[in-house]
Amino acid sequence: MIEPGKVYLVGAGPGDPDLLTVKAQKLLAIAQVILHDDLVSAAILSLAGPVAEVVNVGKRCGAKGATQSEINERMVAAARAGRCVVRLKGGDPAIFGRLAEEIDALEAASIPWEIVPGITAGLAAASAVGASLTDRSKSARVIIITNHRAAGSEAPTQRDWQALAREDATLIIYMPGNNFENLREQLLSAGLPPEIPAAIVSRAASPEQSVECASLGDLNSLPRVAAPSIVLIGWSLDAAVRRHITASASSLLAEAEFILATR
Ligand code: SAH
Repeated sequence: MIEPGKVYLVGAGPGDPDLLTVKAQKLLAIAQVILHDDLVSAAILSLAGPVAEVVNVGKRCGAKGATQSEINERMVAAARAGRCVVRLKGGDPAIFGRLAEEIDALEAASIPWEIVPGITAGLAAASAVGASLTDRSKSARVIIITNHRAAGSEAPTQRDWQALAREDATLIIYMPGNNFENLREQLLSAGLPPEIPAAIVSRAASPEQSVECASLGDLNSLPRVAAPSIVLIGWSLDAAVRRHITASASSLLAEAEFILATR
């Protein structure tokens, strides 16, 4: 399966090593060079073989992190030296992972490459909420978007949201930031009703995973959560969000009763 001088563009999944593909695990064990992003968990990196050179090329690494062209150069140089290279990205490499830029660089250098998909964070977030993203009666489509634009590209426009704000879709919003007031306003003014269910999942598929549920109208009143996080919005979340709110209310009640009883 393994070819020297080839770059494997591998998805590490959302965090839990049990959610890694078998192929990704095999590649980690034999790779000679592993260039990984910040989002890749330590538990996954511990699966690297003893000979592997493991390099964090993440944007948040150190003071400034490696630039995209430095990452491209490293991949090309290692592959040209005949080494088996794993370029390891959080989630799936094809979702907000700058994959196209890396493929372009490998193609330009005539380096063989292969994509190994991973479980993207949005899917792990839906699992954390306990919801189906599609629903035969409520949601016929899933829209994957980011609330963040690459530097230099135009700012999100009202028209963007108008096209996306559909009641028959589940929205998966990557890089939602912390300004939910703004997101809420955009989606409400684009026509989504305030009652539509919403969830924020922080650190999905990790031991620190947390889920906050509300409706779109109340999105701005939810507590701030730790990054990385994902926002899900759609009627397909209805039953799961209700279950979550009921469970949180009864655990709050149980806590209050405990405090009263122990006073
Ligand atoms: N390629 C990645 C996404 C990279 S963009 C993937 O497929 O998952 C980075 C964004 O992904 C973060 O800002 C956050 O919105 C989301 N993200 C990544 N890992 C996450 C996690 N474990 N829990 C919640 N969101 C996550």
